[in-house]
Amino acid sequence: MRLLIMGPPGVGKGTQAVGIAAHYGIPAISTGDIFRANVKNRTPLGQEVSRIMAEGGYVPDEITNQIVADRLKESDAARGWLLDGYPRTAGQVTALDEVLDQSAQPIDAVISLVADTEILVDRLLKRAELEGRADDNADTIRNRMAIYNEATDPLLATYRDRGLLVEVDGIGSIDEVAARITAALDARR
Ligand code: AMP
Repeated sequence: MRLLIMGPPGVGKGTQAVGIAAHYGIPAISTGDIFRANVKNRTPLGQEVSRIMAEGGYVPDEITNQIVADRLKESDAARGWLLDGYPRTAGQVTALDEVLDQSAQPIDAVISLVADTEILVDRLLKRAELEGRADDNADTIRNRMAIYNEATDPLLATYRDRGLLVEVDGIGSIDEVAARITAALDARR
């Protein structure tokens, strides 16, 4: 299985990615997690991206594309993967297409988690209190939503046109949403 999971900030992509990847026995690859680990370990990459992340902006495509291309070459990715939080821009869609064309590894499906923006802003503010994430204050949340709507939401149409989009209601318990996702994916197989 080669899957993407997409959706607005706060919709629960990361949580669902981990569960869905475990369900299908594939690695969940989160660009956000990779960047956060680099920031935490103060690597050169981390120093380059920490400010962008703290402001809720997007890391430049050249950096992000290279990280994903390298990660997909690792041995555990040979049996499939679930990409969480990538692609997020039109340039990333193109770069991913090129990597996958070269390795003849088509995407099986794109999970689109859908939810009302107001509910999500509320969730993100609560998560900010719990986790103390630097990119979760009211201003960055608004910034992240605006950038998502402008740069990432239009990409869903690209995958819909390719017949890959699987839209799932993202509101509900973790288990409810997970069950919806696996049911929708299994129905396609
Ligand atoms: P996430 O955990 O997926 O919400 O990602 C956290 C932050 O990492 C984002 O707000 C961006 O600053 C950065 N990031 C993660 N994935 C990407 C991507 N595909 N393109 C650009 N920036 C990204």
